[in-house]
Amino acid sequence: MGDSRFGRRRFLGLAATAGAVAAGATLLGEPVAAAASGVDYEGLKRALRGPLLRPGDAAYPAAAKPYNAALGVRRPAAIAQVATVDDVRTCVQRVRGHGVPLAARGGGHSYAGYSTPNSGVVVDLGALKSITVRSDGTAVVGAGCRLIDVYAALAAHGRALPAGSCPTVGVAGSTLGGGIGVTARAYGLTCDHLKSATVVTADGALHTVDGNHDADLFWALRGGGGGNGGIVTSFTFGTVPAPAVTVFTLRFPAARTAKVLQSWSSWMDAAPHQLSSLCAVTAAATPTNRVTGTWTGSPAALAGHLSSLIAAVGAAPAFRTTHTYGFLDAMKYFAGCLNQTTAACKAGGPEPFRAASRMLERTVTSSVAGQVVSLMSRQRGMVLLFDSLRGQVAGIGTADTAFAHRTAHASVQVYSGNAANGPAVLAVQQALRSAVGTGAYVNYLNPGQSDWASAYYGANLSRLRRVIKKYDPDRVFDFAQSVLRA
Ligand SMILES: Cc1cc2nc3c(=O)[nH]c(=O)nc-3n(C[C@H](O)[C@H](O)[C@H](O)COP(=O)(O)OP(=O)(O)OC[C@H]3O[C@@H](n4cnc5c(N)ncnc54)[C@H](O)[C@@H]3O)c2cc1C
Repeated sequence: MGDSRFGRRRFLGLAATAGAVAAGATLLGEPVAAAASGVDYEGLKRALRGPLLRPGDAAYPAAAKPYNAALGVRRPAAIAQVATVDDVRTCVQRVRGHGVPLAARGGGHSYAGYSTPNSGVVVDLGALKSITVRSDGTAVVGAGCRLIDVYAALAAHGRALPAGSCPTVGVAGSTLGGGIGVTARAYGLTCDHLKSATVVTADGALHTVDGNHDADLFWALRGGGGGNGGIVTSFTFGTVPAPAVTVFTLRFPAARTAKVLQSWSSWMDAAPHQLSSLCAVTAAATPTNRVTGTWTGSPAALAGHLSSLIAAVGAAPAFRTTHTYGFLDAMKYFAGCLNQTTAACKAGGPEPFRAASRMLERTVTSSVAGQVVSLMSRQRGMVLLFDSLRGQVAGIGTADTAFAHRTAHASVQVYSGNAANGPAVLAVQQALRSAVGTGAYVNYLNPGQSDWASAYYGANLSRLRRVIKKYDPDRVFDFAQSVLRA
């Protein structure tokens, strides 16, 4: 359940102030290839079915923009808007070996812009957006699809895939890093529903990977993080019958925020799997709070669960709302585009933000809640998003997929819509290390985090390194926080 739980636009209005964009900003440690790379771009252009955009082309500036506008202007050497799987293979075969960064791009929402490397070649998968829903409920999803497209296509068949709350996030990047959705406790992570994937590996070969074929790569693709080991061209997911989803929001008086966080944590630890929720602590002199979530049990039964939380907080919420929707409308509700078309849900463009994460490893005590609130009382334009895990997420072993945080109670995202808040976000994330835990979620990565490798991958790090090196021995898919550098 991400930072756009209330919809990106609604969220920014509530919690953040857009700041100045650092034009031309570069990322820490990003490889920048020499201009004279030896890649035959004219030959590559002729060999592709889809267009190859280069600096100077009219469509290049828009295509080169990452979602995170705080990253400033990106200048890839070329953007291949691939039309076919063969185009992907051609890109890999013609670019590899020249020392030029090569990156896949799904939805372009990488927090650090790793899908749009300066001086590199972007393999933009946006045109691979077909979705086929089979009679057995499995869905074959092109790697260029956005989450809202997947939700809408599945809804037409009465099916659902648990995934994130931002409509324009790519199914590719989010699945490869795990995929925490608003119903995660009820249905697990997006990657937990992956049955197989087609992948172009660093040698240009196309593999169909699953539990019996290249099972080590299949393991790595479920939580090992986008950009590692190959370029996925399609995902085959198992889906679930689309549930009715009761969404809820409670806000308690700001003076109770520490008690809200502590109570929320204990409440989620004891809650049934059908209940998932997020507790937001927003920076202010007296930090404010918001508890929002989903319930997939009988709508009438939610009231009793909310009463337990209210009793634990010891104060009536100043604001309370619940609505029951079909799965697609619930996703639109969180995206801030309820009652709008799927196309309208995708209208939001790039936005500036700074973010980082931790994983909550224990139930929040009153002392930790006090530390968190004290930390946020000294910040502005920032929010901490405690997003519940466990439930079905914990039903899979830590070693069973590359997602290393199976026992975590929650992910904790530090988020600011102010581009100037990068150092403050990182400082808060570091301060949370002792209070909540050492882990971090690779989909909420931060390019300045020094302990990133162990934080993202924990106990799975050495196995992941071995697998990725096996499939990419020549470091074709390399970037500042690639598993090859972990
Ligand atoms: C507004 C917003 C809301 C979000 N909400 C959530 C949420 O609710 N839950 C959650 O879990 N996450 C959430 N995220 C995080 C999101 O999951 C990650 O940013 C994810 O990496 C984005 O995937 P993408 O395809 O859009 O990004 P991209 O930038 O295209 O890709 C991300 C990484 O994956 C690589 N990659 C992309 N496509 C492929 C491919 N086909 N094969 C191999 N590698 C590939 C890229 O090279 C890059 O390294 C959110 C992000 C944003 C910006």
